Formats: sequence, C-alpha cells, structure tokens
Amino acid sequence: MSGIGLYLHIPFCTAKCGYCDFNSYANHEHLIPSYAETLLKEAQLWRQTVGTRPVATVFFGGGTPSLNPVAEMRTIIDGVRSTFVVSPDAEISLEANPGSLSVDYLRGLREIGFNRISIGVQSFDDEELVALDRIHTAADARAAFASAREARFDNVNLDFIYGLPEQPLAAWRRTLEEALALAPEHLSLYALTVEEGTPLARDIARGRVASPDPDVQAEHYEWTQDRLAAAGYEHYEISNWARPGRRCAHNLIYWRNGEYLGLGAGAHSHLHGVRFSTVLLPNRYAELVDASAAGIADGSGPMRQVAGAEQITPELAIADELILGLRLVEGIDRGAFRRRYGRDVRDVYGAIVDEFVGYGLLEETASHLRLTRRGRLLSNELFQRLLPEREPVSA
Ligand code: SF4
Repeated sequence: MSGIGLYLHIPFCTAKCGYCDFNSYANHEHLIPSYAETLLKEAQLWRQTVGTRPVATVFFGGGTPSLNPVAEMRTIIDGVRSTFVVSPDAEISLEANPGSLSVDYLRGLREIGFNRISIGVQSFDDEELVALDRIHTAADARAAFASAREARFDNVNLDFIYGLPEQPLAAWRRTLEEALALAPEHLSLYALTVEEGTPLARDIARGRVASPDPDVQAEHYEWTQDRLAAAGYEHYEISNWARPGRRCAHNLIYWRNGEYLGLGAGAHSHLHGVRFSTVLLPNRYAELVDASAAGIADGSGPMRQVAGAEQITPELAIADELILGLRLVEGIDRGAFRRRYGRDVRDVYGAIVDEFVGYGLLEETASHLRLTRRGRLLSNELFQRLLPEREPVSA
C-alpha cells in the first residue's frame, strides 16, 4: 500500500506580500485557535476514506504556519496521528517565516516530531525584502537559520526568489553565496512571477515598478544551475536542489503524480482518482466543515467544504503524469509509465515529443524522457501543449 502525503494549509500571515496570490489573509490571527479545531474536524471527515493507508509525509504550508504556537501544533499533530496511520519515519515539515521563529519555538517543534523546516528567506538584501513587502530582515533570516540549527534541525530548506525587477545578477549572486555559506540541506529557488490581481501586478501596470525581465531571469537561472552543481547540490526539480538524500519527500509525491489529502481552506487533494479543492475563505470553510460533520451524522451528505472536484480520466492522468514528471530533472521513467498506463509515452504524445526534441527542449533515451537544460528554461511552452481539455464538475 503506497503512502499518501498529508498537507495542512494555514492561511494566516502577519502582512500580505505584494507579489503573493496564495490563499492567505493578514490580520486574522484571532482565528488561529478555532481554525486548528476545524482542521481536526475535517481530518475526522476523511478518516474512513484514507483508512489504513500510511501517511508518508505531513506538510504544514501557508500562509505562515509558524504563527501557530507550539501548543496548537501539538494538538494538531496529535490529532493527525490519532486519525490517520502516520508512518514512524514520516517527513514532517513546516513552512516558516523568519520573522516568527525563535530557538524555543523550534525546539518545541522538534519535540513534537517536526523533522524538516522550510524557511522563506527570499533574499539576503534588506532593500529587496522591503520591495517584496516581507516583514523580516536579512538579519532575521540569518538568526532563524542559526536557531533552526541550535534546535537540532538537520533538514532545512531555504526559499529564495530571483529575477526581481531590476535585480542585477551580482545582487542575486550575493544572496545565493550567502545561502551557500550556511550549507542548508535544500534550496527552493523561484523566479519572481507577476500574478494577476496582486499589488505587484497593479504597480507594474501603473508604471511604478519595472516588470521582471525574463532574459535576466534566465541568466540568473543559468548561473544558479552551474553554481549549485559546483557546490554539490543535486538539481532534482526545475526549481529545487538538495544535498544527496535530502530531496523533499512531500513534494516528490506531487511531482510523481501520487496521492495526497489537503486539509484546510483552499487546500488541494488528489485521492482515489479525483482532484478536488476546498473553499477559500477560512470562516466559510469552518461553517462548511461543521455542516459536513452534521451531514454525516444525519445522513444528508458529507464534504460540503469541497468547492470543486474533477474526476481524473485516463487521458488526464497521463497528461498530469507528464506535466508533473517532466518537472523532475530525471524526467519520466518510460518503463514505469508503460506499467502504469499500458502504453508508451510515444503512443500518446509522439508528435509533441518529436516537435520538442526537434527544438532541443526535450531529450529522449531508451529509458527516460526528460527536459534538456534549455527545456527547463522554457518548460511552460511544453506544458501548455500537453494540457488536455478539462471539464470541472461540481462536488
Ligand atoms: S508570507 Fe508567504 S503566504 Fe504570506 S503573504 Fe507573504 S508570500 Fe504570501
């Protein structure tokens, strides 16, 4: 029985960053205690569906999960362990904001079973952090990393954003060199993207901020790949690098098209051949989880917190497998693909494969299909082509 991932979404932040389009809300911290109770109620709703399938990874994302006090985290973790079969060696991760971390807090997390922490540093340049509306400083980030080590976290990811508006390569190099000097086990490095509807998108539209330059971002990415290879990091996903043996097990479940359950407002799931997501607003989420619990009790129907669901047909599963799997640097294992779907990748996407091999963006071997180095820069062009028509159905 293969393990699933469990994701818990904590949608609260101290302030909203200008580039962020995640489902997160500033100034709602008062909801944190009741939200934790709702998460556990929702976990109960899924208990039977998950059954005895082992939970291989538990990931608290957000938002800013590190706003949750240790006592609250203990309640949630204990609740998760008593509801599902969490593997004894499960990877248990928390996304954390440098502004909200102390050694005592991190020690508390270690005691209750967290074994991986992901710190959203984003930059070691204070001016860049201000431009990104981050509430922490570079000094906070350094202190957060030191605290994680002091609390005996030996599996630490640092998150960074490169290709900021008008950011020269030299500035990105300074940030990444400082990150390397800390020797984290894992690095997640994303080019800044301008998401519709964000304050950043509005500032760019009004001419107050320059748009990120895709050529500069490509230059940053190229240099980064070389620098991290020289520093001994394995590049295992388009935007992720790890020391040997330190790849993120939770995210690998996503990229390998595996199954996971997402709890919380706006969380996404892939379970039993269905992809579904939960309502976005925390208050509405709490009301609907209560209604679902009552619905199960009186037999009138469960899972009202699910806002949208999609049955995964074999065609969609194949497209998902390719789009997700090609994000991995090792690419798609063609033998595993044949065993899973009874067909070769070429039987389904032969023409597109030929076209993109011709452009030098894909590389085909007897055993694998993978993006080339240039393909990693232009992966979205290929992923768009692989996207099938999708028809959402209501829950
Ligand atoms: S801390 Fe993260 S989730 Fe919160 S607003 Fe900033 S980018 Fe978004």
